[in-house]
Amino acid sequence: MRVILLGAPGSGKGSVGDLVRSAYGFPKISTGDLLREAVQNKTPLGVQAASQMGKGGLVDDAIVLGLLRERLARPDCRAGYILDGYPRNLSQAKDLEALDGGRPEIAFLIETREDVVVRRIESRRMCPGCEAIYNVITKKPAQEGVCDACGTALVRRQDDRPDLVPERMKTYHTKTEPLIAYYQAKGVLHRIDGNGTLEETFRPVRSVLDRVLHGPAESQAKP
Ligand code: ADP
Repeated sequence: MRVILLGAPGSGKGSVGDLVRSAYGFPKISTGDLLREAVQNKTPLGVQAASQMGKGGLVDDAIVLGLLRERLARPDCRAGYILDGYPRNLSQAKDLEALDGGRPEIAFLIETREDVVVRRIESRRMCPGCEAIYNVITKKPAQEGVCDACGTALVRRQDDRPDLVPERMKTYHTKTEPLIAYYQAKGVLHRIDGNGTLEETFRPVRSVLDRVLHGPAESQAKP
């Protein structure tokens, strides 16, 4: 099973993906995290990606595919995985088919209003130590500015600068939105309202996954 999370930056894909991972045990693969890690570790792909990151556009397909190929080869992906931030354009969707086609897939489109997304991005903070995500309004750490999990000082992500948000939205509209029609045509797209709380967003995701993974009877039995 492959779970694909589509949505604008700040729509809540990453947080929904974390809940799917906890509930179903599939690893969550965020290409944004893979890229940031490669840049930090100065790997050959990271060195190539560094100059393209943090500007609001996309990193070259070949670089992201290289990182994804390595990650999907790990044994924890055998039974299934969640993709957060991949594919981000039609050619990546085709790369994914070529890399690991034949696997059943479900795509969730997290639909979140632009004003909500902008507010979330402005209040988002990240731990550079363990990549945990916080929000200064809705998900504050116990001690201001410090990661609960590892004690590292929280930072604002390089591309979460308010002046970059319009460019990131433009990239989403022009490059990523065509994927909605692509997955709809495949019959695997589910639209999810992403404007409410995380729990409200996750509930319909869980009913779809329960139905697909366990069949209609079991999903009805669960509250
Ligand atoms: P967000 O979804 O909030 O933009 P991500 O952490 O997913 O954040 O991505 C951060 C940046 O990494 C993107 O703006 C883009 O430059 C790059 N990136 C992530 N995933 C991809 C991808 N699949 N293809 C190309 N670039 C990507």
